[in-house]
Amino acid sequence: MVYWFTAQGGHVALAKRYREYVRGQGRFRTLREKAAANPALEKCLGSPQIWPNGELLAPEFLDQLARAGFARATIMLQHGFDAERAAALLRKTRQHGFLLGRYDNYNLARKSEWDYRSDLDAAKEPDGKPLGRGGKIFTCGRQAWERALLQQHADLAAVRYDVQFMDTLLSQRLRECWDPAHPASREDDAGYRRAIMAVASRQCRQVTGSEDGIDYGFDQTDFLEGPMTLHRFIDKPMRSTVWEETADAGPAVRRRGDSDTKDFKLLPAPPGEHYKAYAISEARRVPLLELVYHDSVSTTSHWRWSNMRVPEMWWKADLFNILYGNRPMWFIDRDLWDRYRARLVESYRKVCGWNARVGLDEMLAHEYLTADRSVQRTRWSSGVWVVVNFGGKPFRGAGVEVPPRDFAISK
Ligand SMILES: [Zn+2]
Repeated sequence: MVYWFTAQGGHVALAKRYREYVRGQGRFRTLREKAAANPALEKCLGSPQIWPNGELLAPEFLDQLARAGFARATIMLQHGFDAERAAALLRKTRQHGFLLGRYDNYNLARKSEWDYRSDLDAAKEPDGKPLGRGGKIFTCGRQAWERALLQQHADLAAVRYDVQFMDTLLSQRLRECWDPAHPASREDDAGYRRAIMAVASRQCRQVTGSEDGIDYGFDQTDFLEGPMTLHRFIDKPMRSTVWEETADAGPAVRRRGDSDTKDFKLLPAPPGEHYKAYAISEARRVPLLELVYHDSVSTTSHWRWSNMRVPEMWWKADLFNILYGNRPMWFIDRDLWDRYRARLVESYRKVCGWNARVGLDEMLAHEYLTADRSVQRTRWSSGVWVVVNFGGKPFRGAGVEVPPRDFAISK
């Protein structure tokens, strides 16, 4: 346990002190270092993280993106996507300069979906029972790592994905395993999870990401889906009014009436009280993770809460991305693409354009320019800055004019 106090500098000084602590432990790797080993990472920066659904899982959608002006896009496919269709999408992403990525999960197994030795490979309780909850079995890290070694290379031989999202590795707590055939401490588990990400990022040279983010793994991963979404943890009433996981239908399907099913992540959500008061409040949230790690790991919101999920707050989700210098998350289908195409193009231009400029930078400072905190500025290691106005009035000061709900960047 380390305590460190300071009388000045506020949250920025505290974050920078933690950054020095991490660096001192030798576990800080910059995105620039990661990109030198895997050049695809630079194309990921400045791209929206897109999970297309339904009809959008077709080469024509990638043509439409290109025609709409997208020069970068990271297209993500969900678990078990058909290899032949993926290969057709891959040809298209190569043509347009996009990236193609896939989902996998080495940390838990749903017996109905995952095709491997879930009982043998499960982490065990001291009494020998498999660790699990709600139809899911938690895999022992050691066994998962062995599976990753075998499976990653085989999967890549079928389709040469550029990106891999390894769900839950950096979000779920570490586990002990009492199976005498593969015992593991929690420290071992952390080591295996790091090794699993290293198989994808270092051996297979894929842009590698995980969910949320616990920082023992940040030097092994390139992006995180989740850190922008605080309400996942603090606004449970908001969550429970808009989605449910049905045990048999899999994690992604929410029942809507008797006949119609649609992935809950595609449905608009009303803003909850804690969401409004804390998660999306410019007066209360601060970019601690970005002050420490912006130049080490690229972050988005969680796929359950893509930028347009709360439609009336989309503008603010985009402005937070700009202030924090990170990337937008879009979980979309044909309905959303048709309805919001112009808005998505605008977000791409503004949010991704800025991320392409500062994506490799350290966030040096985060400042409030008004007493009510409606106007904030971040400064970046390449010498640029951005002023974001979350308020309802124009802002004049600090050498810039910023309209309401807008931003200004240095020349
Ligand atoms: Zn084990």
